[in-house]
Amino acid sequence: MGSELVIRIGLCQLQLLKGDITTIAVDAIVNAANSQLAGGGGVDGAIHRAGGPEIMHELDEIRSAIGHCETGSAVATGAGKLPAKYVFHAVGPRYRDGRHGEPELLASCYTTCLNLAAERDVKTISFPSISTGIYGYPIEAAAEIALKSAAAWLQHHAGTVRVVKFVQFSEGDHEIYRKHAANLRGTLAAETHG
Ligand code: ADP
Repeated sequence: MGSELVIRIGLCQLQLLKGDITTIAVDAIVNAANSQLAGGGGVDGAIHRAGGPEIMHELDEIRSAIGHCETGSAVATGAGKLPAKYVFHAVGPRYRDGRHGEPELLASCYTTCLNLAAERDVKTISFPSISTGIYGYPIEAAAEIALKSAAAWLQHHAGTVRVVKFVQFSEGDHEIYRKHAANLRGTLAAETHG
C-alpha cells in the first residue's frame, strides 16, 4: 500500500481504498441513504442487496418510530449478511450550489457516524463517498470535507475509533481522494512540527 494511502493521527488511521464497500470487513459500514430511509440505487442498493432484507426490516421499524432521518444525520441498524456489526445510514445533502449549507451538512454526516461509532465501541468504520453519486456533490470538494472532518474528529476523540476507511468505487474518485489525503497529511505534519 503506497504511503499516501494512510494518514496516522495519534493511534488512529485514515485509510483510502478503492473497491466495493460491501466486501470490506469492518465493525461499521456507512451507507449513503436518503431521508426516507427507503432504499435506492448506488451504494445503498449494493448494501441492501449484499446485506439482505433484515436491514430494511430494521429501517421500517425506525421509520415508523421517527418518520424520517434529517439531512446531515444518520441512523444505525444491524448489518445483516454484510461483514460488519452495524450499518450507519447517513443522509447526505443533495448538492445545489454549495451555498445552501451543503458543506456543513456533508461534514455532519461524517461526524454523526463517528459519534455513533464511539457510542457502540466500534473500532473500524468504512465510509463511501457520501453525496457524490446521485446527489451530485462535486467529488473534489466532497473528498476534502470527508477527510478533514474525520481527521478533526479523530484529533478530538483519541482512543475510540481506530481505523477509518474511505472506500472509493472508481479509480478517478480514488485519485482525487489520494490527492486530498496528501494535502491533509502535509497540513497535519505542519501543525505537529510548526
Ligand atoms: P448519494 O445519493 O449520496 O450521492 P450514491 O450511492 O449515488 O449516493 O453515490 C455515492 C458514492 O458511492 C458514489 O461515489 C458511488 O460511485 C459510490 N458507490 C456506489 N456503489 C458503491 C459500492 N458498492 N462501494 C463503494 N462505493 C460505491
